[in-house]
Amino acid sequence: DALSNKIAAGEVVERPASVVKELVENSIDAGSTIVEIDLEEAGMAKIRITDNGGGIEEEDVLIAFQRHATSKIKNENDLFRIRTLGFRGEALPSIASVSRLEMKTSTGETAGTRIMIEGGKVETVEKADSRKGTDITVSDLFFNTPARLKYMKTIHTELGNITDVVNRLALSHPEVSIRLVHNGRRLLYTTGNGDVRQVLAAIYGMNMVKNMIAISGESLDYKINGWITLPEITRASRNYISTMINGRFIKNYPLSKAIQEGYHTLLPIGRFPLVLLDIQMDPLLVDVNVHPSKMEVRLSKEQELNQLVTETIKSTFKTKEL
Ligand code: ADP
Ligand code: MG
Repeated sequence: DALSNKIAAGEVVERPASVVKELVENSIDAGSTIVEIDLEEAGMAKIRITDNGGGIEEEDVLIAFQRHATSKIKNENDLFRIRTLGFRGEALPSIASVSRLEMKTSTGETAGTRIMIEGGKVETVEKADSRKGTDITVSDLFFNTPARLKYMKTIHTELGNITDVVNRLALSHPEVSIRLVHNGRRLLYTTGNGDVRQVLAAIYGMNMVKNMIAISGESLDYKINGWITLPEITRASRNYISTMINGRFIKNYPLSKAIQEGYHTLLPIGRFPLVLLDIQMDPLLVDVNVHPSKMEVRLSKEQELNQLVTETIKSTFKTKEL
């Protein structure tokens, strides 16, 4: 019901950046090759996401806005083999309960559907001409939750959070063209050609990226791939360490430590690399179902992984004979 959606929204939708994250993840899950994000006032006034993904069938549109309606998990077993970004079925109902939301969506086969929801109340559902894909506009976020509204920070801070989220999604999905525009100004454009170095260059600048070398390593349980700057590059801060598991961005302190340890045999403590690491593993070895924001994970063979990461980085630099 409306109230439990609003309560869930408190967990899922903390700020404009969480809305952007959930909606872009949905677009990616829907197989989009182009995702456009258009913001006004750091998303506090308007967030519009347009994709060219599979769209939603007319008869499923209302269901998509019901709590725990996910098309991505069919049974209990799937929970341990999550390959899609979303799986809780909480984002759409939560966002719709704390904003004015309009969605136009079409699978491309029949006429599309347009739905309007205000503060969780469905105002309009009608047929609408639209091309294949989904186009969502979220306006006046938190207009009906004054406490949340007050909690929002400056445009600068909220926009910073959004660009962090969008950068991560672009890095973990180089095969998707991600386009971010704020108040009419383009902030990020990736081509979607699959080259993660081009995404790194779009975010951090070509100067930094041309000094990166490839890293790869393997053990029985893990496969590591990524890019790391040579030790001379020192402009980077702690924030320049990006880690993914099976293509999903994660935060894991011991893992960041392991990266720094591999790097610090060559540089004094307090210096950081720009690094992007993707770790492939059996999904059974990682528990992503820890927090709604899905950034924190629990790993079952943590020590083996951390050792592999440190060793891989060390041996990469050794073979480069620095
Ligand atoms: P979840 O992503 O956890 O399944 P959401 O509330 O984010 O839950 O979305 C509910 C459902 O709506 C999804 O399972 C999906 O079927 C559908 N959906 C949401 N956004 C899109 C989109 N951009 N394109 C196609 N389908 C979508
Ligand atoms: Mg989702």
